[in-house]
Amino acid sequence: MDVSHLLQDLNDAQRAAVTLEGGHALILAGAGSGKTRVLIHRLAWLIQVNHVSPLGILAVTFTNKAAGEMRSRAGTLLQMSPRPLWIGTFHGIAHRLLRMHWKEARLPESFQILDSEDQQRLLRRIIREEGLDDTHWPAKQAQWFINARKDEGERPRHIEHLDHPATATWAHIYQRYEDYCNRGGLVDFAEILLRAHELWLEQPAVLDHYRRRLQYLLIDEFQDTNAIQYAWLRMLAGDTGSMFVVGDDDQSIYGWRGARVENVQSFVRDFPAVATIRLEQNYRSTGTILAAANGVIANNQGRMGKKLWTDGPDGTPINLYSAFNEQDEARFVVEQIRQWLDQGRRADEVAILYRTTAQSRLFEEYLLRAGIAYRVYGGQRFFERVEVKDALAYLRLVLNPNDDAALERVINKPARAIGDKTVSILRLQAREANVSLWQAAQACIRQKLIPPRASAAVQEFIDLASGMQERVQNWTLGNQMQAVIDESKLATHYGKEPRERMETRIENLRELVNAADAFILPNEDADAGLTELQSFLSHASLEAGETQGESWDDCVQLMTLHSAKGLEFPVVFMAGMEDGLFPHQRSVEESGGRLEEERRLCYVGMTRARKQLCLSYAETRRMHGAESMSRPSRFIDEIPADLLQEIRPRLAANRPYVSARPAAAAKPPTFKNQEWPFKLGQRVLHHKFGEGTVLAFEGSGEHTRVQINFAKAGSKWLVLAYAKLEAR
Ligand code: ATP
Ligand code: MG
Repeated sequence: MDVSHLLQDLNDAQRAAVTLEGGHALILAGAGSGKTRVLIHRLAWLIQVNHVSPLGILAVTFTNKAAGEMRSRAGTLLQMSPRPLWIGTFHGIAHRLLRMHWKEARLPESFQILDSEDQQRLLRRIIREEGLDDTHWPAKQAQWFINARKDEGERPRHIEHLDHPATATWAHIYQRYEDYCNRGGLVDFAEILLRAHELWLEQPAVLDHYRRRLQYLLIDEFQDTNAIQYAWLRMLAGDTGSMFVVGDDDQSIYGWRGARVENVQSFVRDFPAVATIRLEQNYRSTGTILAAANGVIANNQGRMGKKLWTDGPDGTPINLYSAFNEQDEARFVVEQIRQWLDQGRRADEVAILYRTTAQSRLFEEYLLRAGIAYRVYGGQRFFERVEVKDALAYLRLVLNPNDDAALERVINKPARAIGDKTVSILRLQAREANVSLWQAAQACIRQKLIPPRASAAVQEFIDLASGMQERVQNWTLGNQMQAVIDESKLATHYGKEPRERMETRIENLRELVNAADAFILPNEDADAGLTELQSFLSHASLEAGETQGESWDDCVQLMTLHSAKGLEFPVVFMAGMEDGLFPHQRSVEESGGRLEEERRLCYVGMTRARKQLCLSYAETRRMHGAESMSRPSRFIDEIPADLLQEIRPRLAANRPYVSARPAAAAKPPTFKNQEWPFKLGQRVLHHKFGEGTVLAFEGSGEHTRVQINFAKAGSKWLVLAYAKLEAR
């Protein structure tokens, strides 16, 4: 068989990696050096040259989108259906294992996935039930505690330092939470990984089976694996499996979620005779973008150290826009995109990246106004919308009435006179008898533990849910979805909301029926023995958001910096480059390398760009309901100045870029925010020049000067004390 296509378009180092003989390998290389490409070619090489069965390979990556791409690229290279290949995310693969081995994993067959919001709701309830004050014991913190423990492979019984009162309380909440989940057959995201690890630990026969079957393990984005993922991989590999690990320590951005870049060192230690290969040529970005990204990351300490070069053109300078405020920033970015499209380019070549999901809203607004199609990844995810989650909760009850989280969500939605009091009686009963809420509800009616009126309402709910369970069993998924929405009267309920909101909600419910209708049971789920309904519900929670983005329509891509990992775009905008936003305030205040992690995130963002990179920051920004002044991100300062080009199209003259570093600053303003009589961007009136907008301040006290862009007279610097400005 001619396999030359497997080595075409690879450089020497890449070829060496793809064709490696046996053993373990670590490919440690910078962004855009072809790591993912090498991994896919390696997979094809194993099958076509080494005659490894496609069933003997496991390839793991970080996002569903990356997994989808890997799957299709492997299929094309191999000219075969990628169906038998196990390619997926850690969560996806672990979930599949649990579905196939639910019994061995001590789970009910119809176990359900609890998403982050459900998890918090359940925890809030537990905390209250325990008589704890939830201002001191916030559900969110409990969630962090539990997930972090699970990521380390710890159950409540493993927790140490119980003599410390706070730890003891958190551990107790963890225990209670675990009881609930076990009773209802619920697993949260961290639990999926932990269970899959315990499956290996507790079921040697299962582990042995997979060890013999999956001999070749290929891992992308290895720097972001956490303790439990690495432990899981290590056990699967055992003494016989062959590990091919690909990563970049400079792109480790999930430390805050338990990822351990040290796994790279552990890997070299734990597996004998690892061949380490470095790739140094970058094929993605222009020389300028690469030099700028290298300039930023060079400020981190203790890097493993890599050289990265390109023989491509230098390209255009990196644009830097300083906006008056966040509105101006969005306007500018969208205007630039408009210009790009006017050149006949595609919208999906453009990505807007930001630090926090809330930042997407304004860009959406301006893109909508400009009539430019866009897609937001993550953020306001379809499957996370209230009405969608309500409908899904009913469907979950159809599948498993003991799903406490689902029941609690909809027992009084639409309102059917089941008040908090009644629900708390049900909870108490459930807790005392150690049964699900569904069972407790029936017991409460039987034993007349709730007043007659409430009892009738609860009975009505039980009849409704069990009626659905019986009727819709054998219907198609789309019809099941429709029936659940109709019979639960959710549509009528949302129909009563104010018009605009009502319309979107009803549209979303319709869209949900469409999604159910269009749902095709994925082969891997069919192989794992899942029904359509089980598979659909798992997808809704496990792959929320990302499934929407799977189809590459021609539209501008909006996403957080975190979700851009591994992707590339010809044009990238990085917005909100302000100290406090990016780097995030928390990371500046906390120790423990958080700032360095933010810097890596900046490096990830910059290296997504192939041809053009544009950074922007707003001088004032409305955030959490308050306006604040900000300084340009310190990361901008770390870019060699000759690579940057400032744009301020609205002004007659370009204002020099004021460095964020105090030492290098031209003249940092010395007054505090509250002493400023006007805000940046504010409209003011001058007795001679007329109306204008405040652009900048300089100096302090009586020397304060203010720059104003007057509608008629143009831009002027005035001494504030004499200017006699009036606010408009
Ligand atoms: P990241 O660290 O961001 O995940 P990566 O190291 O995985 O990046 P790839 O995404 O595999 O890099 O490759 C970056 C780009 O360079 C892709 O467009 C890829 O097709 C291209 N590329 C990689 N190797 C070569 C090569 N030898 N010749 C031409 N193009 C290449
Ligand atoms: Mg990659």
